[in-house]
Amino acid sequence: VTRLHDGKELAKTWNQQTRAQAVQLSRPPGLAVVLVGHDPASQVYVRRKGEVAERLGFVHRQLDLPADSSLQHIVETVQSLNEDPAIDGILVQLPLPGGLDGRLVTEHILPEKDVDGLTTANVGALAQGKPVLVPCTPRGVLRILQSLQVALEGMEAVVLGRSNLFGRPMAMLLEQQNATVTVAHSRTRDLPSVVRRAELVVAAVGQAEMVRRDWVREGAIIIDVGINRLQDGRIVGDVAFDEVSPRARAITPVPGGVGPTTIAMLMENTLIASTRRQEREARPL
Ligand code: NDP
Repeated sequence: VTRLHDGKELAKTWNQQTRAQAVQLSRPPGLAVVLVGHDPASQVYVRRKGEVAERLGFVHRQLDLPADSSLQHIVETVQSLNEDPAIDGILVQLPLPGGLDGRLVTEHILPEKDVDGLTTANVGALAQGKPVLVPCTPRGVLRILQSLQVALEGMEAVVLGRSNLFGRPMAMLLEQQNATVTVAHSRTRDLPSVVRRAELVVAAVGQAEMVRRDWVREGAIIIDVGINRLQDGRIVGDVAFDEVSPRARAITPVPGGVGPTTIAMLMENTLIASTRRQEREARPL
């Protein structure tokens, strides 16, 4: 039986839980989002993050910087947010325009405010199996799998893609849940047969409908992270949904699957960061 996963419903539930916890704090969690330039997709993502933050009663700030901002100016903006006591979470929307290296900027975010989990400190903590703030999309995928009650222990999992933003942290999280994880990428030989081994496929390559029916083993669980815009304006995932879904035990749609859960996890990370900071503030030195 194919069980589709409605990411919107899940995100709604998680957001309600986050809100219920947030109101118990002595001050609301604060999230700052830095947007450099006018990339339309980035503008949409940033706007949605702000809307959800406000709905949850968070303090929310959006900082719009011009597209021709210098690296130094962006870093100074981040540093002022590091020092802002009302802000618990800082997110710099990537990619940056003009070929600016996003890593050079995100590395300046205080690890305790790094709600995207991209600083060396947070990546290192995750790699050592002691995650604190984990990148939102892989964290959301793990939560989807938990909500589906997938028994990850011993499971053969293939993660397609090895980006710092998604593939790498996803592989680490699955391994920490005792799955046997293969990470495949553009240099992988005979990708279809690697994917065919998998009881769980997590696809994040950014290639429209690359994963076809004959790549997938009967009864596999398919999580599609890809977001690809076709010429005709349609949005599709990395998996050929109509072909693959009859074979799958469970499959997430695009849009409406993984996407909505990412923002919910950003809110949860902000809540975690805020709770930890407020606990620290309350403790005498
Ligand atoms: P990147 O472009 O950073 O990484 C893509 C990865 O896929 C790379 O590791 C690359 O391999 C691999 N790859 C590319 N083409 C192929 C191919 N033909 N065969 C095998 N492997 C391939 O992308 P991201 O990880 O940032 O994002 C991936 C997708 O997920 C995108 O569509 C993005 O829009 C989406 N996404 C969705 C999110 C959400 O739902 N909220 C959040 C983040 C991303 P190599 O390393 O060898 O180059």
